[in-house]
Amino acid sequence: MRISKGEYKAVAQRMKIIQEQQKLIVEKMKKIKYKIAIMSNKGGVGKSFVTASLAAALAVSGRKVGVLDADVHGPSIHKLFGLPTGLGMPAKPDGTMIPVEAPPGVKIASLGLLLPEDETPLIWRGPIKTSALRELLAFTEWGDLDYLLIDLPPGTGDEQLTIAQLIPNMTGVILVTIPSDLSKAIVLKGLAFSKRLNVPVIGIIENMSYFRCPDNTIHYIFGKGAAEDIAKKYNIEYLGSIPIDPRIREANDKGKVFFIEYPDSEASKAFLKIAEKVIRIVEGGREEKNEKAGLDES
Ligand code: ADP
Repeated sequence: MRISKGEYKAVAQRMKIIQEQQKLIVEKMKKIKYKIAIMSNKGGVGKSFVTASLAAALAVSGRKVGVLDADVHGPSIHKLFGLPTGLGMPAKPDGTMIPVEAPPGVKIASLGLLLPEDETPLIWRGPIKTSALRELLAFTEWGDLDYLLIDLPPGTGDEQLTIAQLIPNMTGVILVTIPSDLSKAIVLKGLAFSKRLNVPVIGIIENMSYFRCPDNTIHYIFGKGAAEDIAKKYNIEYLGSIPIDPRIREANDKGKVFFIEYPDSEASKAFLKIAEKVIRIVEGGREEKNEKAGLDES
């Protein structure tokens, strides 16, 4: 196949723009201490809710936190912080954008903030997804942050990897799962993903682990979590479990921040403990076991 001179010029120009944007990303990411990707095997396991709540818990623990909603299949982080779709991100005269800060002090950047609801599906096709995210990363001015949590699209395939690779020097990944989905497979996929990304797995969070009745009896709706055993078997840190609480869905649907509305709930307290563990692992020198996490089946 022959490429015409005009086509060649257009490709070269595009490559130059991409290189310039990548330089801008590297510059901006230098100001962020820890960059953590949050991933799940499939959709609907509460990955976005976990990302938003962990961000809130880290902020309440005194850290400067941002969330990048990279779940291009349906960005929802902004809604979990009560921000409407299409709200926009303030822009400076030089073209950089400022993330929107939501209580309890979490900075949010998302394509969901930039696109009106009815136009959103247009952008989710093919490589445009990666280009849109690259631009968002290149032009968002986070300032100094301790943590940037990146909500990846569900799955552990090439698309997720391409998106995660937009961010240089990633600190690690956190896996989110529900008990019924917990099999060796998700852990192995998570490990393989982190290996391809060349970063460690920080740990695993089990969401929708159980339901506590008002009389205090506990029901393991999706099966009693093998999460802890599996984490042990594969040398991955078990970060904690989040119960099922109908108020979570209600709060999420109403655009209320669950963590702020129900600070005394079992789920919010669990997030504070998980945040503590993440801080210990990430800031306090990663435990040897995370570094050794491998594919040993024994
Ligand atoms: P994902 O990002 O994995 O697709 P979401 O975070 O959008 O999942 O959550 C899917 C649905 O489950 C939402 O309606 C959310 O409010 C609800 N949800 C998430 N976690 C819980 C939980 N622990 N208890 C009750 N509902 C939950």
